[in-house]
Amino acid sequence: MIEKLVRENIKKLKPYSSAKHEFEGAAMVYLDANENPFGSSLPVNYNRYPDPLQIKLKEKVSLIKGVPVESIFLGNGSDEAIDLLLRVFCEPGLDNIIICPPTYGIYEVFAMVNDTRIKKVNLSGNFQLDTVEILKAIDEHTKMIFICSPNNPTGNCMNRVDVESILETFSGLVVIDEAYIDYSGQYSYTHYLNKHPGLVVLQTFSKAWGLAGLRLGMAFASPMIIYYLNKVKSPYNINEATQFLVSGALESELLINEWTRQVQAERTRLMEQLATIPIVKKLYPSDANFVLVKFENAENIYKFLLSSGIVVRNRTMESGCDNCLRITVGTPDQNDELLKELKKYAV
Ligand SMILES: *Cc1c(COP(=O)(O)O)cnc(C)c1O
Repeated sequence: MIEKLVRENIKKLKPYSSAKHEFEGAAMVYLDANENPFGSSLPVNYNRYPDPLQIKLKEKVSLIKGVPVESIFLGNGSDEAIDLLLRVFCEPGLDNIIICPPTYGIYEVFAMVNDTRIKKVNLSGNFQLDTVEILKAIDEHTKMIFICSPNNPTGNCMNRVDVESILETFSGLVVIDEAYIDYSGQYSYTHYLNKHPGLVVLQTFSKAWGLAGLRLGMAFASPMIIYYLNKVKSPYNINEATQFLVSGALESELLINEWTRQVQAERTRLMEQLATIPIVKKLYPSDANFVLVKFENAENIYKFLLSSGIVVRNRTMESGCDNCLRITVGTPDQNDELLKELKKYAV
């Protein structure tokens, strides 16, 4: 069923077979990959190519996420998984995807790079999925529907009944981007993988795990989808330092949970405080580590904050977000600083 969604050229593709692929065992002497035999000009040696399929790291991710190794793809950020999904499934110039603005901008950019048509079905008034319009927008060339939950930049989760009705009805791929799931307390859609062969769940180490600089993202899906992502990825997409460092970081789940709780508590406090500031016109409920705030004049406030050394994200040009700024929840001190400046502007 998934096979028939895959582009013909990708089905036929004979993937590059790396040295690491052709010999996977242990040996005394490695003369197969044209590496430097002496070492690296660093305190740690990185002269050997990394594991192309990152098995050890996936085994750890599997334990934490409760998803079998065969259903895990690791990418250079979850952005890589988005790009590869488009390349595997969307025939350039022919196929299309559905996205629901305002949402994460990368879906559209990678779709355009791949010459994939984009059908936009705006979120409804309260930033929920417009399932009726989404189902109407599907045609024979619609390969994927992207759902971001909690959504960036609005911060809210999508209603489960809506997501489930799309999963039940659509026979293509439903990509659920859960980059902010840790802040939401929601049950991950990874638990639905067995029920829906076309489901892809994206998560990342860039947010709650505090590892944005290492670039590691996860895609969870049926083994058939994972097979095709691996087939088209560049052979050594996750470098050795990232594999090693993230493996170590995975031991610190308790610290991450504690940080996540602190961010959630600060999110509540920040919202309560923002609500008392007259220039704040509207606060949108958030299940993420940021809040979307509507101001009287977002452009001016954005510039004012910049001049005070505080940078937030101006989202005023996004559909349904006029005069909105997206503000990341910081440390208590950083949030106090932000509130102090906004109050200054208010008087
Ligand atoms: C931050 C973010 C990501 C993470 O992308 P990485 O490439 O893993 O850093 C993915 N999706 C959304 C909606 C995001 O906001």
